[in-house]
Amino acid sequence: MSDDCIFCQIVAGEIPSHTVYEDDDVFAFLDVNPLAPGHTLVIPKGHHERLNDLPDDTAENLYAAIHDLIPAVEAAVDAPASNVGFNNGAESGQEVPHVHGHVIPRFADDGGSPIHAVGGTAPDLEDEELAAIADDVAAARS
Ligand code: 5GP
Ligand code: ZN
Repeated sequence: MSDDCIFCQIVAGEIPSHTVYEDDDVFAFLDVNPLAPGHTLVIPKGHHERLNDLPDDTAENLYAAIHDLIPAVEAAVDAPASNVGFNNGAESGQEVPHVHGHVIPRFADDGGSPIHAVGGTAPDLEDEELAAIADDVAAARS
């Protein structure tokens, strides 16, 4: 636990939340400023800042909980769809430095946008540039 982390304090019960799910490794609760009814945050109980900081077993447990919760959240608010995503690092818009997945129910004509809207100005990349980037990603895997 990180003492100055609001999500660690929520897991510890020091800050109240509308809890929707809890197991040994994972905690899920409603976002206090929801983008839609049912907007849910799914987090590891341990304090890790970014997705890539998670131990493998915690990453697996976090995804399993998200997989389980998506249909439950959609059913609870009668949503036909949802956006599911992580802000991963400050430059991406992550404000709380404790890994959290957003499950945001979506409705027809709700005025929202697809996940493509999160990017900045789209780059105009040639096919050779895409190929080079793909090679760089493959080479950078550890
Ligand atoms: P981020 O921008 O870091 O991906 O999203 C952080 C989310 O946490 C925001 O959607 C914000 O509304 C939510 N949030 C921040 N503080 C609290 C809190 O104390 N309780 C709850 N339930 N949600 C919070
Ligand atoms: Zn934390």
